[in-house]
Formats: sequence, C-alpha cells, structure tokens
Amino acid sequence: MPRPIEAIIHQPALAHNLHRAQACAPDAKVWAVVKANAYGHGIDRVFEALRAADGFALLDLNEAQQLRDLGWRGPVLLLEGCFETRDLELCSRLRLWHVVHCEQQIDALAMHKTHEPHRVFLKMNSGMNRLGFGPQAFRAAWTRLNALPQVDEISLMTHFSDADGPRFGQDGIVHQMSRFQAATHDLLGERSLSNSAATLRYHQRTEVRADWVRAGIMTYGGVPDFPEHNMQHWQLRPAMTLRSRIIAVQNIEAGETVGYGSQFRAEAPMRVGTVACGYADGYPRHCPTDTPVLIDGQRSRTLGRVSMDMLGVDLSGLPQSGVSSEVTLWGQGPKGSVLPIDEVARSAGTISYELMCALARRVPVSIEALA
Ligand SMILES: *Cc1c(COP(=O)(O)O)cnc(C)c1O
Repeated sequence: MPRPIEAIIHQPALAHNLHRAQACAPDAKVWAVVKANAYGHGIDRVFEALRAADGFALLDLNEAQQLRDLGWRGPVLLLEGCFETRDLELCSRLRLWHVVHCEQQIDALAMHKTHEPHRVFLKMNSGMNRLGFGPQAFRAAWTRLNALPQVDEISLMTHFSDADGPRFGQDGIVHQMSRFQAATHDLLGERSLSNSAATLRYHQRTEVRADWVRAGIMTYGGVPDFPEHNMQHWQLRPAMTLRSRIIAVQNIEAGETVGYGSQFRAEAPMRVGTVACGYADGYPRHCPTDTPVLIDGQRSRTLGRVSMDMLGVDLSGLPQSGVSSEVTLWGQGPKGSVLPIDEVARSAGTISYELMCALARRVPVSIEALA
C-alpha cells in the first residue's frame, strides 16, 4: 500500500464558490484568480470547474500558455503585466490582456510591433504601495497609453490593502476608494478593484464591485476575513482536502512526552495516534499542540511538534479510532464533516493562502469531479 496521505481537489466546491462570487457581484464579471498554480490546487485540476468565470487572472506566462492549451479562448489577464519586452510577443500571440503598472511597461508597448492592439489594465497605486502609478501619474499614463496604436481598450484597476477589516479603526477601503475615484471619475474604461475580501464584504456597493471582481481565495474556500467571519457565514466550501491515516498508536503514561523537543507532556495516561503527515507534505511545522484535526470525522487535536513525515494526535475519547483511522488535516472529512483550512492556518500563525500554495509535490492528488 502506498503511504496513505492524499489531497483531493473538489471541483463541485470550486464551482459553488465561483457561483458565490458571481452572486455577490451579479452585475460584474468575475476573474477567477489562478496564480500560483491555482493557489496550489493545479490549473489543470480547477479549469473545468471554473469555466463559468468570465476570465482567468494569473501572473506566470507558462500558466497563461497552459490555459490556452486547455482550450480557454476567453480573457486571460497578467496581473503583474510583462516583465520584459519580449513577453509582449507572447501576449500578442496568446491574446493575453495585461496590467500596466510602470513607465517601462508603456515604453515597451510603444516599441512593440503587433497587428492586434492589446487590452490593458492600467494599475493605480491608491495606497497599497506595491505596484501602480500614483493618482497624479495615473492620468498621464492613461493619456500616454491612449495615444498608442498598440493599445486597444484601457481598463482601470487598483488593489486594496485592507479590504478584510478596518484600518486604523476606520473602514479598510475608504482611503483607497476616494483616491481612486477622485483620479478616475472622468476617465473612460472598465474598472476592477475588488479581491475576495472586498467582493464578500462590500458586495452591496456597486462602485466597489465595479465591472470586474478578482476572486482568488474565496474560490478555493478560504475565508479572507477569518476569524471575524467563517465559511458558513460566507457560504463557501473547501476546495482542497488534505487527509491521511493513523499508522501507529502509543499508549503513554502520565509524564511521558510526544515528539521532538518534548513539547507535549501527558498529564494522565492516554492514547496517542501517529499520522502519516508532516511538514514535508506541506503541513505547517509551526502548528503547535492543540491544532484541530478530524479523526474519523470527529474533532481532535495535534500533540507535540510536527515532524517531517509524521505528527501526533490525541485519541482520548475516541476509543473506536486507531490504526488506519482516517485523519482530515483540513477540508472535507467523512460524513459531511468539515475542518476549515482557516483554523489550521490560524493555529500556525499564517493564512489559508500559504497552506494551499505549500501543498508538497510528494502528496498524490485526486479530483472529485463535477457531477
Ligand atoms: C492575488 C490577487 C487577487 C486575489 O486576491 P484574493 O485575496 O485571493 O481574492 C486579486 N488581485 C490581485 C492584483 C492579486 O494579485
């Protein structure tokens, strides 16, 4: 028998979550964000489930090529635009839309020879201070792009730093919204502002939804504003399950410890299960004792430090469970049970995005296909 760990990508959950984004922004188009190999799920594994999206957004040219190879003929947006001049050749060939966030990208476009003008998303730095033209420079960039024969439609875009919660005690997007609107109110073109957090939290505001929302983490069932809200609140479903089995059981006495560094010490005799899952599978080593797990669908907890290939779990109160019991590290468990990846991420001091993206290559992945 192979080592019992596996990941499952749930296509019905992906389709459901995409539908949730569409329901939040009924008058907008939805970019399914599939950067980082679809947040670790695999572009080839999510593609069928996300075909109802209006377009796919990513940043790697190989991933854009992969989508075209899968047969996607609709919009593909490069979220960071082109990294060097010759990337524009591929944009022309694959009909990619691309972000323009700096002068060098406009210079490159001005030199580019193409029969078909490109659709571009001009990015404003409205306060995130990562990519984009500041509000003043933005208008000049728009004018410059608008004069180029290489450019077709110009869309206007920005990205929120705090859509998942308040900022300095105020609404998290208000400062960026006002800068964006002041600088763009009289410019033509479609607008795209919202990530998952803004799509969910500000769904009642048309000017935030605008023409395109960019749904990333919510598509995969991660909650951008956990723990303020959870999966049930936003009606999302886990698109990735990581599961394994118990491969050994130890009956330990009071005072015995579990794992490297003796980080857990038993206060009374207890049963400890050893699970075939470790940090080399992508399970975070930072998860301390008490990180939630499901054992045969029942909630329990990890014990001690996570090793490379194994981790310990508490079998107290689970007399029916033992060697070969199913352990859900995150996602969908047996009999309708669910362990939100957000809870595990929080325990590790990180966010669901990082855990999904870190699923290790050695973990075999299967697909729960669309009905
Ligand atoms: C990754 C990304 C998104 C998606 O963000 P989520 O929080 O996962 O929804 C949206 N826009 C841009 C520019 C991004 O880079």
